[in-house]
Amino acid sequence: MRYTVALTGGIGSGKSTIARAFADLGIDVVDADVIARQVVEPGQPALREIAEKFGAEVLNADGTLNRASLRQRIFSSPADKQWLNELLHPLIHQQTRRQLAESQSLWCLWVVPLLVENNLHKLADRVLVVDVDPATQLARTMARDNISREQASNILAAQATREARLAVADDVIDNSGAPEAVLPLVAALNQRYCALAMSAEQDKKHEHNDTF
Ligand code: ADP
Repeated sequence: MRYTVALTGGIGSGKSTIARAFADLGIDVVDADVIARQVVEPGQPALREIAEKFGAEVLNADGTLNRASLRQRIFSSPADKQWLNELLHPLIHQQTRRQLAESQSLWCLWVVPLLVENNLHKLADRVLVVDVDPATQLARTMARDNISREQASNILAAQATREARLAVADDVIDNSGAPEAVLPLVAALNQRYCALAMSAEQDKKHEHNDTF
């Protein structure tokens, strides 16, 4: 398995922006949100199972998943929610492992918005948290998504706290300054992760040699 650094942070903290900066340095990025959408794309077995269970009303006219309709269904039924989670979680996990294994860069960045909420930090070799204060998160989310302060506050309130995220962090990027301000730190972290990935690779080789 490729040496994996999980990148997390609250909504609007700058995960996508930071991930792009690492990608610009040649690092492969695996995105948990993208995978969650891929496993229910038309043609995937999971979408067929969902449609069989909930009926055509959870599909759009073009055959894609109608997320709002599905959300409505599981909101009113904990049993249906559990059924859906039991269907999707193993598929998401399998697809994540596959994409991490296929990564070609020395280490791989795994962007996981709900790392803390879903208790996934143990799956990564290292955790990098993008940190800004909640007021900045609110302002940037409102501007990006064109939503009200109340809507943005509700999303923030449903997520893990800043403190809970920082508690699992190995490294922290403070993204409260100008966008370019983080680039030297991104470059330095890349150096550090390359070194860590190489020494993890060496350790693995030694373990292998010890076995024979
Ligand atoms: P996330 O992926 O964590 O939700 P984004 O990377 O989409 O966050 O950033 C949220 C918004 O804030 C985007 O519109 C982005 O362009 C902007 N942004 C990110 N970093 C900065 C920064 N350092 N200064 C100003 N705006 C920023």
